[in-house]
Amino acid sequence: MTRIAVYPGSFDPVTNGHLDIIERAAQLFDHLIVAVSVNPGKKPLFSFDERVELLTEVLEPYKNVSVDRFRGLTVNYAKEKGAQAIIRGLRAISDFENEFQMALTNKKLKNEVETVFMMSQSQWLFLSSSTVKEVASFGGCVSDFVPPIVERKLLEKHSNL
Ligand code: ADP
Repeated sequence: MTRIAVYPGSFDPVTNGHLDIIERAAQLFDHLIVAVSVNPGKKPLFSFDERVELLTEVLEPYKNVSVDRFRGLTVNYAKEKGAQAIIRGLRAISDFENEFQMALTNKKLKNEVETVFMMSQSQWLFLSSSTVKEVASFGGCVSDFVPPIVERKLLEKHSNL
């Protein structure tokens, strides 16, 4: 049986914290689908297409990882893709309540899809896409937080604003 997992998120933009989770999840599953989703509660800096493009470029070296996009419920998308698991990253206790609620709801909606939580490495514990965007918007250096192509795109965005 092929073990497939979906790692959903806004990825606005992808950070080294996301990459660490992707790298580790890709070792646990035969195939990992990194899926950019619409989060109605967030107003993105990067368009849907831009986020998918950045991920596609950054994830090119990973042979069992693909990039996709979806709208709607993650469990429905996971089922449609034949995935057994949804991957989520956990940073601090602040992530926990929301993630716990979402995982239980998803379990109720589709019992056969498991949510697998992976702890952030301490190195990336503080890192979020919003922090990166904030630092970049004030001209701060984000090269320690994101891959070079993302840093370039952030600089471009802010020079066009
Ligand atoms: P969402 O809008 O779905 O929260 P994000 O792109 O912000 O999308 O995050 C996607 C997933 O990656 C979430 O499970 C989030 O907790 C996790 N994540 C984000 N940043 C990190 C990080 N630095 N370390 C580990 N996991 C992370």
